[in-house]
Amino acid sequence: MDAGKLKKLDLSYMSMANIILVASKMRPGGKIGYFETGIEDLQEVLIGCGVYFSEDKSKDGRIPVTISIDDEHFKLYIKALAMRSEDIEESIRIFGDFYGYPQCCVERYIKDLKNKLHPITRYWSQLIESKRFPDLFAIFHVPCGPDCAESKAIDESFIKKLNEIDEEIAKGYLDGKKANLAWALAIHSDYYHADKR
Ligand SMILES: [Zn+2]
Repeated sequence: MDAGKLKKLDLSYMSMANIILVASKMRPGGKIGYFETGIEDLQEVLIGCGVYFSEDKSKDGRIPVTISIDDEHFKLYIKALAMRSEDIEESIRIFGDFYGYPQCCVERYIKDLKNKLHPITRYWSQLIESKRFPDLFAIFHVPCGPDCAESKAIDESFIKKLNEIDEEIAKGYLDGKKANLAWALAIHSDYYHADKR
């Protein structure tokens, strides 16, 4: 995996981390966004690191690109998409398999939706209630709770791999995720406490 080539592209740290993790088979699938101009350069890098990719229709000049360890695994993504209108729960499970999310977290996500809870809001509430700042930054899914052992294992393996490949990308990615979560928690905390008053 040549991180130098990735850095030359107009990609966010999030997308770079995604490509590194799929290319090193730490994540079976992922999604990145790319600007129309220069898409050939992105394709060249993805082919070079053995990542299967499929481009979607352009949205405001940005092309959503789904990446996968191989074309066989990508079939899960197609299956989940096709199932979305007839069985939303089953489609979420298949998407979960495609992205490599832990089953406990996928089931909790489905339960949240059934209870009309936003999964991220539910997770923030758990964090606020447990009075701790989270340490799960590298994962791409909403954990079933702050103490999910599977999420912790994935988080640690992602951080290790990203640091092995490129410390700057690892730091940029983790700092971005931490900033997002800190901001979200601050906002949610205000709403949460306003609710209780
Ligand atoms: Zn879990």
